[in-house]
Amino acid sequence: MEILHVSAECYPVAKVGGLGDVVGALPKYQNQLGHTAKVVLPMYRTKFLFDHQFDTVHQGSFDMGEHWFNYSIIKERKNTLGFDLYLVDINGMLDRQSVYGYGDDSERFTAFQIAVVDWLSQWKHQPDIVHVHDHHAGLIPFMMKYCTAYRNLAEVATVLTIHNAQYQGWMGWDKSRYLPDWNSFDWGNLDWQNNINPLASAVKCARVVTTVSQRYLEEMRQNANGLEKLFDYERGKFKGILNGIDTEVWDPSVDPYVSPNFNLIDASLGKLANKKKLCEQFNLDLEKPLFIFIGRLVYEKAADLLPQVIYDSIYHMEGKMNFLVLGSGESTVEAELENMKSKLVGYYNSKIGYNEQLSHQMYAGADFLIMPSRVEPCGLNQMYAMRYGTIPLVRNTGGLQDTVKDFGEPNGYGICFNDATVWDITHAIYRALEIYNQPKLLKKLVTKIMKLDNSWESSAKKYLDLYQSIL
Ligand code: ADP
Repeated sequence: MEILHVSAECYPVAKVGGLGDVVGALPKYQNQLGHTAKVVLPMYRTKFLFDHQFDTVHQGSFDMGEHWFNYSIIKERKNTLGFDLYLVDINGMLDRQSVYGYGDDSERFTAFQIAVVDWLSQWKHQPDIVHVHDHHAGLIPFMMKYCTAYRNLAEVATVLTIHNAQYQGWMGWDKSRYLPDWNSFDWGNLDWQNNINPLASAVKCARVVTTVSQRYLEEMRQNANGLEKLFDYERGKFKGILNGIDTEVWDPSVDPYVSPNFNLIDASLGKLANKKKLCEQFNLDLEKPLFIFIGRLVYEKAADLLPQVIYDSIYHMEGKMNFLVLGSGESTVEAELENMKSKLVGYYNSKIGYNEQLSHQMYAGADFLIMPSRVEPCGLNQMYAMRYGTIPLVRNTGGLQDTVKDFGEPNGYGICFNDATVWDITHAIYRALEIYNQPKLLKKLVTKIMKLDNSWESSAKKYLDLYQSIL
C-alpha cells in the first residue's frame, strides 16, 4: 500500500509534542513492514531544513480568498528518516521559526492543506490512503470529497487520527472563502456549532477515525471539548490504536544524548551516573529520589498543580526528595515554577523551555516521572520513562490507564492514582518514597518496566489492517 501522512509535526523535522513523535515513527515502521509510507508537512525554518538537502519536486499555485499563493513541494534527498519526506514551502506563510502560535495560524494551515491537495490531485497515480493527523490536516478529507477542482481524489480512502481532541482549529464562517470552490449544499460537512471546525469536518468526511488509545476513545464521548455528540454519533467509524514508541530513537543503550549509555544489565549504575550529572547541573541531592515532570505546562497536563504538589511534598515529607521540571506553556505556571527556585534551593529546580536533549537526560537520570494529566489521549512520556528505567506516577486516564499498571496489582510496575488533585498526587509521591526505600523492590520494578514492549511493531500492523479493511 502507498500511504501519505499529512501532519503539522514530524520528529526530528519539527516537534512540539507527541504528534511529532508519532508521525516521525509510524511511517518508518510501515515501510519496514513492506509498504510505502510518505510524510508531508509544512516547511518551517527548523534546524533539520538547513542540515539536509532537498530537491524541488513540484511547483504550483492556488488562490485563497483574495490572495494568490505560489507553493513548492521539496523532497529530502537521502531518505534520512526511513521514509520519503516532503515539505510544503509557501513563501511568508509557512517558513517561520515555530510550528504554532501565530495570529494567522488558521490561514497558514488552510494554505498548507490546499497546497497538499492541489499537489496530490496532480500525481500521475493515486495513493491508497491519505492519513491526516489532527485538525491541522482536518480539512483535507472535505476538500478531496467536495471541492470541484479535486473531484479526482474523491474516491481515495482517508483516515483521520485524533491525537488530541481539545484543539479543533475553529474558524468563523467568514473564512469559508479560503476554501477552493465547493457546493454550498455541503456546508454541513464543515460546520460544528456555527463555526468551521476542521476536526469535526474530518470526523464527518474521513472514512475511518482513530484515536491513540482505547481508553481515550471511550472518554471522548463524555469529554471532547464540545464534540462529544459527534463522536458518539459517528462511533461506528472509530477505532482506538495505542501509540508505540520508536525504540530506535528511545534506546538508553545507544541514545547519543545519554551518557553513559546503559541497558537492562547495568541500569542501576548507568542511571546513577546520569542522575549524578543532573544533580550537579541542577544543584540537587544525589542521595534523594529524583522526581521529574516533562511536558507542556498546560491545564490538560495538570501542570498548574505542580507548584503546590512540590511545596506540600517537600514540607510534609521532610524534604526527602528532589524535583526537576522541564516544560513550557502557560505564563502563570512558568512564572510560579521559576519563582519557587529561590525558595527551594537544593530541593527543586526547573528549566523553562523546550529542550530535547535535556528531556532524554532526565528520563535516563530520574527515579520517578510524575504525569498527573487531566486529559491524556495516549501519552508518550510514561513509555519513554519506563524504557529508561524511571517509574511513572500517573493518573488513571486515557492512554496512561492503558499503559501503566499499579505496582500493588498482580504484575504491576507503576504508581496510579485517580484524581488530578494535590492530595492524590502527593499521596502517589509518598508511595514512591516507600518503593525507593526498598532497594530490592525498586530494582525489581525498574527491571520490569525496562523489559516492557511498547514498540511500534504491533500498532503499525493494526493501522495496516485498518487500511486494508477500508480499501
Ligand atoms: P503531548 O503531545 O500532549 O504534549 P505526549 O506525552 O504525547 O504529550 O508527548 C510529549 C512529547 O514531547 C514527548 O516526547 C516529551 O518528551 C516531549 N516534550 C514535551 N515537553 C518538552 C520539553 N519542554 N522539552 C523537551 N521535550 C518535551
